[in-house]
Amino acid sequence: MYHRIDFSHEDITIDELARRVKSNHPDADIDLLKRAYEFAELHHRPQKRSSGEPYIIHPLNVAATLIKLQMDLESIIGGLLHDVVEDCDVSEDEILEKFGRGIADIVIGCTKISKIKFKTKEESQAENFRKMVVAMAKDIRVIIVKLADRMHNMLTLQYVSKEKQVKKAQETLDIYVPLASRLGINSVKSELEDLCLRFLHPETYYRLAEKVSMKKHEREEYIKDCVLLVKDKFLEYAVKADVYGRPKHFYSIYKKMNNREVDFEQIQDLLAFRVIVDNITECYKCLGIIHSSFTPIPGRFKDYIAIPKVNGYQSLHTTVIGPKAERIEIQIRTYEMHEVAETGVAAHWKYKEGGGSSGAKQLNKLKWVEELMEYDRDIQKSSEFMDVVKNDLDAEGIFVFTPSGDVRELRYGAGPLDFAYAVHTQVGHTCVGAKVNGKMVSLKHKLKSGDTVEILTSKSQTPNKDWVKLVKTSKARTKIKQYLLKVDREKNLEIGTEILEKSLKEYNSSFKVLEKKNEFKKVLDSLNLKTIEELCLSIGSKRVNIKKVLELLPSIDYVEEDESKKKIDTLFNKVAGAAKKSAHKDNAVIVDGLDDIVVRMGKCCNPIPGDPITGFITRGRGITIHTMKCERVRQSDDLRKVDVAWNSAYSFRHAVAIRVITHDRPGILSRITNNINAQGVNIKGAIAKSLPDLKGSFLFEVEVKDYSEFLKVISIIEAMEEVISANRA
Ligand code: MN
Repeated sequence: MYHRIDFSHEDITIDELARRVKSNHPDADIDLLKRAYEFAELHHRPQKRSSGEPYIIHPLNVAATLIKLQMDLESIIGGLLHDVVEDCDVSEDEILEKFGRGIADIVIGCTKISKIKFKTKEESQAENFRKMVVAMAKDIRVIIVKLADRMHNMLTLQYVSKEKQVKKAQETLDIYVPLASRLGINSVKSELEDLCLRFLHPETYYRLAEKVSMKKHEREEYIKDCVLLVKDKFLEYAVKADVYGRPKHFYSIYKKMNNREVDFEQIQDLLAFRVIVDNITECYKCLGIIHSSFTPIPGRFKDYIAIPKVNGYQSLHTTVIGPKAERIEIQIRTYEMHEVAETGVAAHWKYKEGGGSSGAKQLNKLKWVEELMEYDRDIQKSSEFMDVVKNDLDAEGIFVFTPSGDVRELRYGAGPLDFAYAVHTQVGHTCVGAKVNGKMVSLKHKLKSGDTVEILTSKSQTPNKDWVKLVKTSKARTKIKQYLLKVDREKNLEIGTEILEKSLKEYNSSFKVLEKKNEFKKVLDSLNLKTIEELCLSIGSKRVNIKKVLELLPSIDYVEEDESKKKIDTLFNKVAGAAKKSAHKDNAVIVDGLDDIVVRMGKCCNPIPGDPITGFITRGRGITIHTMKCERVRQSDDLRKVDVAWNSAYSFRHAVAIRVITHDRPGILSRITNNINAQGVNIKGAIAKSLPDLKGSFLFEVEVKDYSEFLKVISIIEAMEEVISANRA
């Protein structure tokens, strides 16, 4: 019963189908099922499959697969009817009228997907994938019916041309396998993978099949021995478990061969064993027994019970050296986990007869579907969307925790930035560092499964080009690139506009005058641009030479001679240079709309980069910066306030005071001082005081470069055993 689901093609009749539905769902409306069959049979009657069989055998097999996946009656009937609209000119309305909304929606969804023409060009494939995701978000049952449909087509692929075999198999591997995997329907995923291998790499497939069948008898004996041996061990500890073994799926062996670049002869672990028990405690007990009875292979133990995969999969995985020194892989799980592993989201419909659509609504909330929909809006180019989907679907992820205990899945090799962007785009943009399991790490740090990650942000932080190389997830990469493009564009637009304006002024002309005379049209036409904004952008980014523009303007008397050439060159360098300089100004704070203004830090609150701040115009003294929390801010009148922001290019040091309360222990002051110094942070001063109750109070003045360094210092002090509290004074 707990063996693989057998999806093979069957010569099944409607009566047998009805019998199986009834045994799964005793109250099911068998009349409706039979009516659907008769309807489908009637309309498909003139058609034949490539195998020569009557066409109806296909919908019957699709329905049978859906029963094996424990799907609800609407899906099973949807399976019987899935081709009638597409192949038999039956109208959507007729299905709706005869079989109701739920079934009609499934059939309509399947028809829509069938009409998608898959092309070899990645661009259009991506577009199709996008449509599939959209269709699925409406009702995931559509995709499950589609998977059952594809399964039967793959099982009978030997009857079509070689060319079609390869095309269908590749499409299945690219589109349907990742979908089955994400929906957690592992039984379908593995079967489809093996079928793809058979048609895409026949030699490999048949060599593996040969290798497995060659020693078939020997292998079966070995499996039997292993099962008995393991069961015996369990008995010793009074654990009741179902244990069985099987050869692994070919595709997983094939993948291992490719990954590790090993040969057929070197392939060792061909066998997988499953241990199924009643509850989670027993799972870990069994693991303990197995690890103490056989030698486990280091690095192969994975705990998907504590940290389930995103698709809901749970199990303990381990590889041990079994009898005769053969490596065997063992998966340990409960009966419930097993059902989820085999049927994934499909399991949700099992006891929900008639409640399918509410199940679908619930599943709409599946996180990754939501994320895909978000990409759908964000990303214009289909090929990019395809990359995103492929990247994120295939990768073996890691699982990390937020400080509040939520689990996030990230790609292997992901770092704090990936995590920050997974939380929120704005968190990503302003990320300055992270605490992993309470310790400060750099942005280059690689996260591991089980890490707890707290992101530190600073308002003055912005993404830069290096980040693109640091991140591993497509979401983070896309967001950073979008940000950089936007910033680049704005800067170039500004520079270009200023250069054009100033150049025109040199010739006693202006935008307004030339626009009135409609002179820009000629310029735009001959440069193949659409708007004046585009023109300015092109000038700013040096794609178009300003001299060329001046030449093209009829009322500007520009001649390429030394005098005017020099004049324009100087102008260009001045504007571009100024723009560069303003970005790296040696000012800690950028003041909105004001150039070269004197800025000083308020003595009262002593802001450091990262603090939320505001500025005050002080008569004769420029602008004073205060933290938003400062008393002065609350007391002062709004008229004198100006918007200010931290300049991320600025790197001076700021003094900040930290008050530390400790238990009064000998040598405590020097220990704190050493710990701060060890961070490369300079201490400008320290005041110590004894408090009642044997407590000590210290006031440190330290120099930090920004808020994240300040947090680092605080966290280092807080981590000391004797310290009761550490806060900004
Ligand atoms: Mn079909």
